[in-house]
Amino acid sequence: MIYLDNAATTMTDPEVVRAMLPYFTENFGNPSSVYGMGNDVRHAISIAKEQVARLINARPNEIYFTSGGTESDNWALMGAVLGVKHRPHVITTQIEHHAILNTCKALEKMGCEVTYLPVMRDGLVDPDKLRKAIKPETDIVSIMMANNEIGTIEPIAELAQIAHESGVIFHTDAVQCVGNMPVDVNELNVDMLSASAHKFGGPKGVGFLYIRNGIDIRSYIYGGAQQNGRRAGTENVPGIIGLGAAAEIAGRNIDMRSKHIETLRDMLLNEIKDRVPGTTLNGSRKYRLPNNINVSFSGVDAQTLLVRLDMQGVCVSTGAACAAGAAEPSHVLKAINLNTDKRNGAIRISLSDKNTMGEIDKVADIIAQQVDMIRGMTW
Ligand SMILES: *Cc1c(COP(=O)(O)O)cnc(C)c1O
Repeated sequence: MIYLDNAATTMTDPEVVRAMLPYFTENFGNPSSVYGMGNDVRHAISIAKEQVARLINARPNEIYFTSGGTESDNWALMGAVLGVKHRPHVITTQIEHHAILNTCKALEKMGCEVTYLPVMRDGLVDPDKLRKAIKPETDIVSIMMANNEIGTIEPIAELAQIAHESGVIFHTDAVQCVGNMPVDVNELNVDMLSASAHKFGGPKGVGFLYIRNGIDIRSYIYGGAQQNGRRAGTENVPGIIGLGAAAEIAGRNIDMRSKHIETLRDMLLNEIKDRVPGTTLNGSRKYRLPNNINVSFSGVDAQTLLVRLDMQGVCVSTGAACAAGAAEPSHVLKAINLNTDKRNGAIRISLSDKNTMGEIDKVADIIAQQVDMIRGMTW
């Protein structure tokens, strides 16, 4: 099997699993307990917080553990608008993950106003459009760092600057970036940032929200006083330890690793383009996640291709994993104005540093062969 769907999820690193295991058994204590075992677990959580903070150049007390990217996104938006005294206004984009888009839909039902910025053909947000959309009552701007379908990386530092000039807080969903490429919250100049462990070698069901010191947002999960009273609920201790370990591992040589994946990406893209006429790359060529390829093959239905690739042992996807099975066309591909043929033919290939040159050659062969067969049947 050749796994090329790392934007959907990644394998948990064996080193991460080893770090987690004792926290199910010997160290099963509740971090809020005051006796020794509780203290040990509390200490382990504080180490994980440092590991995560180091990965994104934050301070440990700016890291809040959550159940994943989805909860972090919900919290950032809800926390920014709940309790404000005017009619809230949120600015986001048309290409966000559903964790943002559906939270915005829920906010609209509660009476909030939401502006969904369009994007250009390469998926980039036009900074002028953001500037024009900000109003005196705008509470938050939330723009993803990189898109999970087409891989476009947004000019976050510039967009955050525009929000800050009007005194508006800025959140970014960086789930596709953290652990896969260098991310620095100070360079990006963001107030909040979401990430998820299972997108970079950690376990599923755990992630974090970075909240810059001094940013005042409401809690979203109510209950006990855990995590400084800002996120209630007994911590997912093994998950948090796993997230910390994954962050530690991801931080090692992150520049070199992301460059290496980028090289694999470009090799595969070139091989596919060479062998398959009628291939177009969707998203930006230049501002692109190091591990993302999104291509359309004219006249080829992506679902058909996907099933055939699966039979050859190759795992890729048509877009967001969450949308798979739902026959709805991708909102992202619509937003970048792809015609129906290209939209129906788009597949997403997302690599990891575990992929080899040998796999790249093999996959290019298999794709070329399967596209030829599909075209032979329909043309
Ligand atoms: C995967 C993903 C999420 C959701 O994260 P979970 O941890 O699976 O809830 C949110 N945003 C983006 C961009 C993603 O790729």
